[in-house]
Amino acid sequence: MEINLISDTVTKPTSGMLKAILNAEVGDDVFKVDPTVNALEEKVADLFKMEAALFFPSGTMANQTAIKIHTNPGEQLICDKYAHVYNYEGGGVSFNSGVSCRLVDGFRGMMTAEQVEEVINPPDFYHSPLTSLVCIENTTNKGGGACWDFTELQRIKTVCQKHGLAYHLDGARLWNAMVAKKESASQYGEIFDTISVCLSKGLGCPVGSVLVGSKEHIAKALRVRKVFGGGMRQAGYLAAAGIFALDNHVNRLAEDHQKAKEIGETLLNLNFIKKVEPIESNIIIFEIDKSLMTEKQFLDKLKENGVSIIGMGQGKLRIVTHLDYTDGMHKSFLEILRKL
Ligand SMILES: *Cc1c(COP(=O)(O)O)cnc(C)c1O
Repeated sequence: MEINLISDTVTKPTSGMLKAILNAEVGDDVFKVDPTVNALEEKVADLFKMEAALFFPSGTMANQTAIKIHTNPGEQLICDKYAHVYNYEGGGVSFNSGVSCRLVDGFRGMMTAEQVEEVINPPDFYHSPLTSLVCIENTTNKGGGACWDFTELQRIKTVCQKHGLAYHLDGARLWNAMVAKKESASQYGEIFDTISVCLSKGLGCPVGSVLVGSKEHIAKALRVRKVFGGGMRQAGYLAAAGIFALDNHVNRLAEDHQKAKEIGETLLNLNFIKKVEPIESNIIIFEIDKSLMTEKQFLDKLKENGVSIIGMGQGKLRIVTHLDYTDGMHKSFLEILRKL
């Protein structure tokens, strides 16, 4: 049995999803006449109680588009040092928007309102870049799937309002955060200017992300998406997968979280595991005691047993649970771990 735990992006469409894809009614979305894409956008906008939404081929493009519409070249955004927009989007912040990142030394990818306020450049001090945007990530990826305390997000919103800054949420795994913390999409829609959500991570779609915001922001985003080459034609086949996933795959994320917790507990009982970070959603980050086993030995042993996970550098290893990680696989994996 092959057990792939390197990411929640490794899933393949379920049979129900494939059926939805096959039955999708499509049109040319560049002319905005694909009924299924339009339905998906409306559905996501309604969920967040925001005015409009736009379908994207990737989360990176959705984030980069948001950054582009909220900033001008030469300006600066504020984000945590672990932020995906800073670490894993190919330098797109500077390439696409001519913007720099002011990094905050947060905790597990999360900042406090005080930390944010401290690094805002005074707008009349024209020697420094003009701060124009704050980017948040929930759950945090490099932070090990940590979920924000919603009141801190509200406090940062107050700081943004006070200083006239835009507020963007990279919600690639926001579904996980909402399920873990029993939150609603509309409470997020109320405080952020734009939110990107991913359909292909926890939700199991082959492709796709959605950006939500006001009509005005989404109208600007439509133009930027075109410039970035993200206009897709009969994209309704992909949007149909998204609609199916929103209807069927959100609540079940709790199962991924439960499995992640059980893996964490099993790891903690192994003598060569030095540390397991707190597990709040579907990501497990842990470290090995190098005097007892090297990272390579551990990964090789898992590989021999058909299990793939990845290293994150700096001695950290990562496991991500997902839709295609079945109960049967879970049982075998826990046994494999106990026997190591
Ligand atoms: C995966 C991810 C993205 C981008 O997703 P792609 O669809 O791979 O471009 C953005 N932000 C976070 C936090 C992610 O984990």
